[in-house]
Amino acid sequence: MIDSHAHLDFKEFDKDREGVIKRFFADGGEKIINIGCDLASSERSVELAQKHENIFASVGIHPHDAEILNEESLKKLEELVIKTKVVAVGEIGLDFFRPESSGFSQEKQIDAFKSQLELAKNHKKPIIIHCREAYVDLLEILKNYQPKDDDPRAHKTPVLQGVAHCFLGSWPIAEELLKMGFYIGFTGAITYPKKRVTKDPLGMNFNTEPEIFKVVKNTPLDRILIETDCPFLAPAPKRGSRNEPAFVKYVAAKIAELKSISVEEAEKATSENARKLFGI
Ligand SMILES: [Zn+2]
Repeated sequence: MIDSHAHLDFKEFDKDREGVIKRFFADGGEKIINIGCDLASSERSVELAQKHENIFASVGIHPHDAEILNEESLKKLEELVIKTKVVAVGEIGLDFFRPESSGFSQEKQIDAFKSQLELAKNHKKPIIIHCREAYVDLLEILKNYQPKDDDPRAHKTPVLQGVAHCFLGSWPIAEELLKMGFYIGFTGAITYPKKRVTKDPLGMNFNTEPEIFKVVKNTPLDRILIETDCPFLAPAPKRGSRNEPAFVKYVAAKIAELKSISVEEAEKATSENARKLFGI
């Protein structure tokens, strides 16, 4: 198992970080990608990767911190991108969930996202995308990095590779991202919804399936990554408690259930995908 998205540098792990890491590897865990959200956490991710053989780092500035992105911080980020064991740029993206009235500028987010996409492109690193309530704008921006159909030099390999982390959008959006060559990352959030039995106007029962189940079922197994996003989003059996990499197995189990495959198969495929995308 590979936890492709963890925040082990967060203060929630200050008391038992090494124990949490040990637990994951003792439980059959293979690798962890620790994700930066700003300059400090990106630096801490690099430090964690330097300390542990099977931990790798991603560095980037989260859309919530878009306003810290300027020439100087971008330069610092670039110094981190070239460090050993830094395998991706992220998490970067757009988050329009919080209103602009609370101080988040969408324009700033778009600018910060674009300059970090350039950084990833220049250093040939995959990106880890955070997106909330902004999928339309996201697709619009990512389309600029697709090879143009009418360009005779167009190459089949996309300019940018990456993963839409903690995907919770609809199937048509996932489909667009897949067409562009991106992977879809699922967290414990896919273990929360339940099938609902509703009555139609004639009083007949029918099952409504949550959209995210459809997304999991339709996404090809060779394009799925599993992740915890710990300390957040603990999967159903552990919901409400602090999440940790060892719990990524519950995400694999849910994918196996929805796809009617064995848990081993889900674990094996998602690990292979993460190895391939991040070159680890
Ligand atoms: Zn995250």
